[in-house]
Amino acid sequence: MTSEQIDLTHDTELIGEYEQVHMHVFGTPLRVLDHGQGTHVWDVDGNEYLDFLAGIAVNSIGYAHPAWIEAVSAQAAQVAHVSNYFATRPQISLAAKLVELAGAPQGSHVYFGNSGAEANEAALKLAKLYGRSLGADKPYRIIALEHGFHGRTMGALSATWKPAIREPFQPLVPNFEFVPANDLDAMRAAFEATDSGPVASVIMELIQGEAGVLPLDPEFVRGVRSLCDEHHAKLIVDEVQTGMGRTGKWFAFQRDDLGGITPDMVTFAKGVAGGFPMGGMIAFGEELSNLFSPGTHGSTFAGNPLGAAAGLATIGVIEREDLLVNAEARGEQLRRQIRACGNPLFESVRGRGLLNAIVLTHPCAHAAMDWALEHGLIINAVAPNALRLAPPLVVSENDVDEAVHVLAAIPSDLPND
Ligand SMILES: *Cc1c(COP(=O)(O)O)cnc(C)c1O
Repeated sequence: MTSEQIDLTHDTELIGEYEQVHMHVFGTPLRVLDHGQGTHVWDVDGNEYLDFLAGIAVNSIGYAHPAWIEAVSAQAAQVAHVSNYFATRPQISLAAKLVELAGAPQGSHVYFGNSGAEANEAALKLAKLYGRSLGADKPYRIIALEHGFHGRTMGALSATWKPAIREPFQPLVPNFEFVPANDLDAMRAAFEATDSGPVASVIMELIQGEAGVLPLDPEFVRGVRSLCDEHHAKLIVDEVQTGMGRTGKWFAFQRDDLGGITPDMVTFAKGVAGGFPMGGMIAFGEELSNLFSPGTHGSTFAGNPLGAAAGLATIGVIEREDLLVNAEARGEQLRRQIRACGNPLFESVRGRGLLNAIVLTHPCAHAAMDWALEHGLIINAVAPNALRLAPPLVVSENDVDEAVHVLAAIPSDLPND
């Protein structure tokens, strides 16, 4: 497909209508999408795309998986919402399943929310209750990493580094501090600055997704775990992007090459329900879990049965179709073929499983993304010089071949963004 052949008549018209009625927080949509099947999606003019973004690491089992459709349809016909005065079977099964997949100890508990930001709000509120329980005479602190991303709500934003998205909303929640990623000395210094109060918690991603898919050094991750143990602080691992099979394990913390540590809290969202809005947090162990009591936190939609059914269906497909193994194998294939493809625009490729980024020799990521889109491939300009690739976990060997075929042809002389 060449750009000249793409008809975008309906897309253009609908995008005009979109712009008139939507808040301008996302920029102009690239296309208006109509339907999807597996790893492919079609726009309203009938143009077909191979999707290597998957709704930002959300559509883990691809579009319109029959098992997902059946589970969500059946649940919709049965009961779609009940409120938290009541419980439903799917939410009970999903919570138990998540505790099992995370390998969390006996007594661990799950809180469900509806998004990644809400998952992190829950973790940060629990961290605050834990901080209070330390009983120090100084305020406790929460440490986050430079370049980390945890969401857009006020608490999650307080832990999000990027000044352009955080500073307009200051003052935010007090006593958050940022430490450079992979700088264990700086982390130790932050812990030892006890004059400004004890550290209650550290929150971090093991692969900094929005920052450009930057894996942390395993030694740093293990060092942070030790510092938390030594100073009685709780480690929150934000697996909103890395979780639910994306990196080839259920959770990135289970990978030795990302530290292989046990967190105190894990947050999840994006891929957990295969496209249904759903998120949450697992608190490891009884003591931490018990800091929340009735009334201290909640959400009307929390544990919603439709979302829970979607989650169970998604996890079921990942298990039955052996998608953790596929994520690892296709990820290796993708990185190998990108390295071998000979495009002089590509400096390097990094990532784990199916969360990867190509680093470009000059900052033209938006132009490269647009070029790929015009040639039938959806990718994402995650940083000025980095393209993120996060296809559905059901991606095939042939899909990867096709994607690399397009990537290899991206002109290396695109203008800077
Ligand atoms: C996307 C993301 C979030 C925020 O999730 P939302 O569902 O957009 O609120 C938080 N943390 C990480 C690591 C993410 O990638």
